[in-house]
Amino acid sequence: MTRPELLVIGGGPAGAALAALAADRGVRTLLLEKDRFPRDKVCGEFVSAEGCAVLERLGVFDTIVAAGAMPMDACLLADAQGRSVACALPDLPGAGKTALGVTRAVLDETLLRHAASRGVAVRERATATAPLFESGRVAGVVVRAAGAAGTDESVRATLVVAADGRRSMLQRALLPGLGDPRRTTARSWFGFKAHFPDRTGGLARRIELFVFPGGYAGLGPVEGGRLDLALIARVDALNACGGSPHRLFEERMLANPMLASRLCGEPPCSSWKTIGPLRFNVRRAASHGAFFLGDAAGTIDPFSGEGMSNALRGAELALPFVLDALSQGGLTEAGERAWSRSWRRAFAPVTRRARLFGRIFEHPQPAALAMSLLRLPHGARMLPSLVAATRTGVV
Ligand SMILES: Cc1cc2nc3c(=O)[nH]c(=O)nc-3n(C[C@H](O)[C@H](O)[C@H](O)COP(=O)(O)OP(=O)(O)OC[C@H]3O[C@@H](n4cnc5c(N)ncnc54)[C@H](O)[C@@H]3O)c2cc1C
Repeated sequence: MTRPELLVIGGGPAGAALAALAADRGVRTLLLEKDRFPRDKVCGEFVSAEGCAVLERLGVFDTIVAAGAMPMDACLLADAQGRSVACALPDLPGAGKTALGVTRAVLDETLLRHAASRGVAVRERATATAPLFESGRVAGVVVRAAGAAGTDESVRATLVVAADGRRSMLQRALLPGLGDPRRTTARSWFGFKAHFPDRTGGLARRIELFVFPGGYAGLGPVEGGRLDLALIARVDALNACGGSPHRLFEERMLANPMLASRLCGEPPCSSWKTIGPLRFNVRRAASHGAFFLGDAAGTIDPFSGEGMSNALRGAELALPFVLDALSQGGLTEAGERAWSRSWRRAFAPVTRRARLFGRIFEHPQPAALAMSLLRLPHGARMLPSLVAATRTGVV
């Protein structure tokens, strides 16, 4: 490929969606992805209705449904004692209420191949390792191809977008003051995921959240007759179980009779997959002439089930700013401010609210109080508002 106009780092939902949208508008786009797809990922694999609306607009929704994605239009919240409340998922304007359960192997692969089909040059197993600068602005990256030790290559473009997830190389290089997301602190979280055989027939189209001491888990149906169990736990809860996700699961989660009944005493049909440390916060959407998108700009608490939808929506939101920057030969400081304002308006409030709710439910006493309120006759009406409060509703 001749020098790309747009260089996108990361082929997750944010990067693949933006690359496809830009290529559709005639932009010469190169996408770098460090892994080879399809690949598994620690995730609840729940795509909310806003995200489904973006998948429709991108033209991949039918492919994902045909791959066996599972519909969900209700949710259930259960505390450690097995007390629970359930409600329909909120029906937000333009998005409806139906969410999908689909593995990241299928979703991310579909989005990446879609980008390639729209003309994006996709390079897998290519890791961006450092930014390249021209006049203090990011003008490209150093790329290392897997298995090719010592063959670093410089790739330059008019515009660089970092969609490389919550540990973004570019965020770390450009904004070290935001802290190193790879460092474990007392307040860090770790995430785990395993698939279980689904003996419930699709979990009655519900996404279920189970709170346990030191963390919480989401259980939802995905394609292939499986349930995805994704949990996050504070580092001290994990340490108390000798660092073993399996022990954490057995000792803290299976104590919940409702969750145990869903899993029917069967072992997982996959290995446990682990990630961490995790932190959930709003960071920066642009710096030094580079865009940040998806988790690279800010990471929402998985409690919301909105991370992928925000990544997809963020790509749509970014497109006009990207086209404008390209028309000006790069992202100007005024362009950075305008994009950052737009990103923050859309995603900062939901990210903060999701963390607040996560905080309430991670501590036994506030969680018990919240659950008691939600179980009052009028309380159940609060649950849909709580769910809606972590969703952008921008469709
Ligand atoms: C336990 C847990 C459960 C979750 N459950 C849900 C859920 O149910 N629903 C939901 O919507 N969200 C969920 N999320 C959040 C969701 O996973 C993220 O918000 C979403 O993946 C963000 O998409 P993204 O495209 O920004 O980043 P990512 O999906 O992380 O994609 C980034 C891509 O960049 C690549 N990359 C990274 N560094 C480089 C590099 N240097 N060079 C080249 N490529 C690179 C990575 O390989 C990756 O493919 C969960 C998160 C956790 C931790």
